[in-house]
Amino acid sequence: MQIKTPYYLIDEKALLKNMRIIERIKKISGAKFLLALKCFSTWSVFDLLKKYMDGTTSSSVYEARLGYEKFGGHTHAFSVAYSKEDIEVLKKFSDTIIFNSVTQLNSLYKLTKNTKAARRLGLRINPSISYSHFDLADPARKFSRLGEIDIKKVEANIDKISGAMFHYNCENADFKCFSKMLDAISLKYGAILKKLKWVSLGGGIFFTKENYPIEKFANKLKEFSETFELEIFLEPGEAAITNSASLVTKVLDIVENEKNIAIVDSSIEAHALDLLIYNQQAKLNEKLGKNEYIIAGKSCLAGDVFGHFKLARKLKVGSIVKFRDMAGYTMVKKNWFNGLVMPSIVVKRLSGKVEIIKEFSYKNFVDALS
Ligand SMILES: *Cc1c(COP(=O)(O)O)cnc(C)c1O
Repeated sequence: MQIKTPYYLIDEKALLKNMRIIERIKKISGAKFLLALKCFSTWSVFDLLKKYMDGTTSSSVYEARLGYEKFGGHTHAFSVAYSKEDIEVLKKFSDTIIFNSVTQLNSLYKLTKNTKAARRLGLRINPSISYSHFDLADPARKFSRLGEIDIKKVEANIDKISGAMFHYNCENADFKCFSKMLDAISLKYGAILKKLKWVSLGGGIFFTKENYPIEKFANKLKEFSETFELEIFLEPGEAAITNSASLVTKVLDIVENEKNIAIVDSSIEAHALDLLIYNQQAKLNEKLGKNEYIIAGKSCLAGDVFGHFKLARKLKVGSIVKFRDMAGYTMVKKNWFNGLVMPSIVVKRLSGKVEIIKEFSYKNFVDALS
């Protein structure tokens, strides 16, 4: 089948590989896994993910609603700041509502009375430690607004909550570091943890990375859960869906300016924005060699560059270029910059069947504007 480029191609077999790892960790640890929708919200593959994961976590009312309608299971709500109206809407969808500060908890918890979330309110705590290669994504960065930092305030309001969320990792593939930080949290917050029923350890733990010590990780979670008699949640985004999609593009032109620059029918700014924000190269799905190219997007942004590569093959107009590892923080961030054609969403099912799930048109572009 010839599919029109550009498109994101999600491979359910690759998703399943990650889900099997989650299955193993769950079996040993008893922890529950919630998909972080802010990373990946492509609901057409939720039927597969929900066989292995226990629900979703969200950053907004819309995400919480999507989790409730399309995924089911536990529907955790979190927001850096809720309005009263947010809570009114969330009551319908969320079984757990996590507040970012004690001031928000105190001003809003009464609105949850007589709802399913009433007995499952939580507070995000900023443990002042973190793992992240980027200041932009570091939850414990200086002046961070993410989570309550004052232990005394948490203790004074402990009766209003049944759980807490610590999200303090970002792409942390170092188990020893994770383990040490969890020990530090146990020590610092032990008295608080003993009074709670559940704790979420957030996302950002790269347990699906090759050679990650899965058994050690699962046992560490189990030990933490038993020590404090807690139900444990993890909220993986990237780790759950890593390496499961590619962005398939086509070369439209090759121009020369000291180097050969291949221009593809996509854009890093519009279709893989996270890479641009974090100043990272896209990864290719092919053999490398000695043919040097800059592969660039077709938006008018001068820095719309996917990366500098040395390929085994020569590119020409019409060549297909596949970028890999394009599931996380791509489709959720795609935008209409330059009015570029939005990549379609294509899924390769477990059966091998390839389905074009969604194609975007001029109408979608117009509807997103006014
Ligand atoms: C971003 C985020 C996640 C998911 O993070 P990943 O790095 O994609 O695993 C989970 N929980 C919270 C609170 C987050 O902000």
